Amino acid sequence: MNPAPIANELLAALPRKDYLRLLPGLVKVPLTFGEVLCEPGKLIRHVYFPNDSIVSLLTIVDDHMALEVGLVGREGMVGIPLALGYNHSAVRSLVQGSGAALRMKAGRFQRELRQSLPLQRIMHRYTHVLMAQITQTAACNRFHLVEARLARWLLMTRDRLQSDQFRLTQEFLAHMLGVRRVGVTKAAGALQERKLINYSRGDISILDGDGLEATACQCYQIVKKLQDRSQGSPADRGRPLADRERPLADRGRPLADRGRPLPATMA
Ligand SMILES: [Zn+2]
Repeated sequence: MNPAPIANELLAALPRKDYLRLLPGLVKVPLTFGEVLCEPGKLIRHVYFPNDSIVSLLTIVDDHMALEVGLVGREGMVGIPLALGYNHSAVRSLVQGSGAALRMKAGRFQRELRQSLPLQRIMHRYTHVLMAQITQTAACNRFHLVEARLARWLLMTRDRLQSDQFRLTQEFLAHMLGVRRVGVTKAAGALQERKLINYSRGDISILDGDGLEATACQCYQIVKKLQDRSQGSPADRGRPLADRERPLADRGRPLADRGRPLPATMA
């Protein structure tokens, strides 16, 4: 029997035996738009590996204002402090796109992490990527125009959902970008005028992905490149991490042969 494909990219990157050991502790759960998975300062009870859901990481200012500092989808995990040995959340984790995720209890995740070197490596890499995304977002929020930030944010959402169509209210977008609703209306109107998106009553369609990328600030590419590099090439996904740094042709060859041209029959 062929096992179901693994939607979450961190889980998909695990060697098979490590993934199979995690599997009994993973429960598939639906995540609903607006659901809060964790609040700042509170104990993290579960980690979540999104399949086709998206979770926003928000920092709270003056007890009521929220600003998005990170976005987690199928490329990541919610609950990263647990991977660093810390049990409390610094951010609010809010479901931004409904869908499924695999959930594991915090204690079990930490036990599994101690026993699996590949899981540790994957978590370290993802932590680095997430930190880069958060620091880039801090600079982005300070220096880049709303229109470019909105374009970046729509592209990040598209990549995680793997869909050009999704639903987002203006009010939600305003919170995510830390601007007033009128600012979102103006920016979305400008993107629509240039036929890059269609936006109607919260339904967003990306009409011209390349054009939207050209409009987005550089922050989009910077974080995406780092993320792609951390995951390896598509051919690498699911291969042991130790193998990935070697040239493709060398994989599985005796040490003495590596770096030499392949025999004609194999090349
Ligand atoms: Zn930016």
